[in-house]
Amino acid sequence: MTNGKKLIVGNWKMNGSAQSNFHLLTQLLRADLRFDVCDTAVCVPSVYLQQVKTQISDQIQGSKGGSIGLGAQDVSAHEEGAYTGEISVSMLREFGVSYVIVGHSERRQFHHETDQLVAIKAKRALGAGMTPIVCVGETSQERESGMTEAVVRRQLAAVIHLNGHCINEIVVAYEPVWAIGTGLTATPEQAQSVHAVLRAQLDAAGAENGRRIRILYGGSMNPANAKTLLSQRDIDGGLVGGASLKAVDFLSIIASA
Ligand code: PEP
Repeated sequence: MTNGKKLIVGNWKMNGSAQSNFHLLTQLLRADLRFDVCDTAVCVPSVYLQQVKTQISDQIQGSKGGSIGLGAQDVSAHEEGAYTGEISVSMLREFGVSYVIVGHSERRQFHHETDQLVAIKAKRALGAGMTPIVCVGETSQERESGMTEAVVRRQLAAVIHLNGHCINEIVVAYEPVWAIGTGLTATPEQAQSVHAVLRAQLDAAGAENGRRIRILYGGSMNPANAKTLLSQRDIDGGLVGGASLKAVDFLSIIASA
């Protein structure tokens, strides 16, 4: 649910090293971020959660309040047990994780994640008090065949169906697959029109009165296009991949919000 502020989330994907993370975060934490107008978070590879958590909490002592939130890029649909390689919500919670991306198109594409699995992951995150960032989006082929609306509605419907009124606590990210990491961005009009569809679906599903679930745009967002995208009526923030790896670009996107 939105508190009226935009939300800008960096998705570092499988990038970085202990050294480069330290430099990137140092630059972000030194910047005079306006936490009164914009929430920010970084979703980092799980092996670096401890490093990033420590660096952020060291900075919080002595700050005026407000800081960068910590997020994960995926979570297991299972609670615990014989699931080699997976990471549970309770493990993420131990690292102070507040956001977890679920259903990123790279997980759907390369790990064959289904709408149903994504819905279960969202439920796990919600049950642990974390905010799932539920990604939806169409491929270029689906867009060309006029299926954009049907695809994103189907993906979101699975999450709504399983999570009922708890959907008030999710964040949705519209990420057209053809725009991710390609340098192609949805036009503000294209993005706004899909966001409006998602907003209507959330409202119809009973998003509580006066509450507004945040819907982020993701897909080659950069300093040049962020301002126009973020000024669209139904765009409440951004999920930023490539540009979140360069402090100057990420800070510029945050400034646009
Ligand atoms: C993403 O992977 O969530 C993303 C939006 O990537 P990029 O900004 O690089 O397109």
